[in-house]
Amino acid sequence: MKRTNRPHHAPFALFAILALLLVSMGAPADAQADVIRPSERFRVGESGDVIRIPARVIEMRGGGDLPEALSAPTVCPDSFDVQHYELHLNPVRSTSTLEGTAILTIESSIDGLTGVQLDLRDLVASSVSRAGNALTFAQIGDVMTIDLDTTYDTGGTFAIEIVYSGTPDTESGGFGGFWFFPFPVTDFSMGVGLNANPPSMGRYWFPGVDAPCDKATCDIYVETNGPKTAVSNGALISVTTDSTGRKTHHWQETHQIATYLMSISVAKYTAIPDTANPLITYYVHNDLVPQAAGTFANVPAMMAHFESLFGPYPYDKFSYVTTPIGDMEHQTCVSHSTALMSGTTANDDILAHELMHQWFGDLVTYDDWREVWLSEGFATYGEALFVESQSGAAGYRNYVTNQLMAPYLGNAGSLTYPIYDPTFKWGTVVYEKGGVVLHMLRKVMGDTAFFAAMNGYLTTHAFSSAVTGDFQAACETEYGSSLAWFFNEWIYQGGHPVIDWTWESTPSGPNWDVSLGIVQSQAVGPAVYEMPVDFKIVGAGTDTTVTVWMNAATQSFPVTVSFEPTSVEFDPLNWLLDEAAFVPTGVADGAPTVPASLESNRPNPFNPLTAIPFHLRAPARVSITIHDPAGRLVRTLLDAEQVASGSHLVPWDGVSDRGEDVASGVYFYRMLAGETIETRKMHLVR
Ligand SMILES: [Zn+2]
Repeated sequence: MKRTNRPHHAPFALFAILALLLVSMGAPADAQADVIRPSERFRVGESGDVIRIPARVIEMRGGGDLPEALSAPTVCPDSFDVQHYELHLNPVRSTSTLEGTAILTIESSIDGLTGVQLDLRDLVASSVSRAGNALTFAQIGDVMTIDLDTTYDTGGTFAIEIVYSGTPDTESGGFGGFWFFPFPVTDFSMGVGLNANPPSMGRYWFPGVDAPCDKATCDIYVETNGPKTAVSNGALISVTTDSTGRKTHHWQETHQIATYLMSISVAKYTAIPDTANPLITYYVHNDLVPQAAGTFANVPAMMAHFESLFGPYPYDKFSYVTTPIGDMEHQTCVSHSTALMSGTTANDDILAHELMHQWFGDLVTYDDWREVWLSEGFATYGEALFVESQSGAAGYRNYVTNQLMAPYLGNAGSLTYPIYDPTFKWGTVVYEKGGVVLHMLRKVMGDTAFFAAMNGYLTTHAFSSAVTGDFQAACETEYGSSLAWFFNEWIYQGGHPVIDWTWESTPSGPNWDVSLGIVQSQAVGPAVYEMPVDFKIVGAGTDTTVTVWMNAATQSFPVTVSFEPTSVEFDPLNWLLDEAAFVPTGVADGAPTVPASLESNRPNPFNPLTAIPFHLRAPARVSITIHDPAGRLVRTLLDAEQVASGSHLVPWDGVSDRGEDVASGVYFYRMLAGETIETRKMHLVR
């Protein structure tokens, strides 16, 4: 289905949110982390990016250079919308040719539609007709232009029948296209290409609008001879056999599907129903049947976990189909590489990844290839979610650290491009870093809001397509505040924070004052990352975890604890994608260049809590006061003889010195720091 209203992606404006200092006492110590090695499917490419594709594909690719092209915006026609594909296909193995008839149901989006253009590569049409009338057409390059015999106004629908044949192409140096594989004997269409730009590969085997922004439904009929089974999208409606013994498998997908998610696989398959879940059938090459039970043992648990997180599986059936190349999230019929049929659950991460795609990528497709992280980053994060369901929080963190963060950080020197419109679509920035972005968003939002946002995004855009701005909007609905700052720094810019941190403590009566310091010094991406960060302050037999809001190049955070600190851990649960190093002395590098400065309160407007940041180059006497528009003093937030140098935050809860909630409206906050006076405005909205 074609998407008509396409929002722009998030504006680059930075919106800060509430800076909070949260203290939770006595969190239990974490279990020691196991070390998991990055799996063998990671391979460093020529540019330093890590290609994440199965072994068989790497063998096929050889040692070519990685592509470096950015995507052009996906273009779907404004004048018409394909509603349905009816494909009759006969792959002829003896000649490696494909004979096809495609009947496209098309709806006009304009008044006076006189023709359509479709994508079709290398295959040659012999006739095009509408209701029995021959239509004139031309094929130039990959574009097929068809003149209609009558005009259609908005909403008018018609069906055109295209008879075509030829030798289907495969992508040069990549894995996409239509294949006649000799070992194991399989006729197979792979929906995306490695090098093609855009990567959609529907045009390699049928005519259509080959872009993710135009989804449709489909009926696919595949002829086979001998003991072969054809597997495709949706439900198997019928298998008929003619007088010569040729079979036709009819598959029907009544849900919207993008052309790159359509696929057929023809081979000597055994259909193995899952005994635990009647929705699931495995189509396995006959000689791989002994490995099927062990390989797919955890699939019902995977399905149950994702359904518990994201709602019922959205389609009529689910299959893994063994194919010589994979793995690929073809809708309802995931292609699973024969090379990964180990007979064990060793490749559960890949199975989970492709199953997660059925919600993220298939149910909600990205509108445009520049947004491919909405599919691949989410599917990669799905791997960690499945591990969490199997191994708990510690297993989840191990997976994020070793399988998502490590492959990115290990090559981060060359992986400086953003997740949005990436230089390379199939690498670590989109997959692993994209997954880590969701991990960090979960930290920012909290579990309840995060998973509610994931579900809200799915519900709003089900069976359609979306862009990052749509996902951001779903998150902001649950979060209750702008997340533009988060998406700006993590999606639309490259890099990651490079952090020096430190701590020191001094006794203070019965307590200890702890100063926690952060200096950011990354050369790539935002000069300053804004993120919540945990410090774990450890004493004898006790500890405290403090969450600070990192939002300046140089910051120190004062904390008071009731025990003598013996050590401090920065980001102990590894929520943040960063390079962090402990420096044993105070924060010396990036002292403020002005004696004192007052910053904008965050958030603003606010209700009921905001925080006022200020910076001191040297210790100073400081007062922070709130005034109404008439200049009357409303509240004294701070009046201290000496405040340490560094960055500080003062919260205000909208309450006056008399303990009363003040009314909505504009207020002014004034800082007097040594010789410096600064005043700023803020807006309380009740
Ligand atoms: Zn994927």
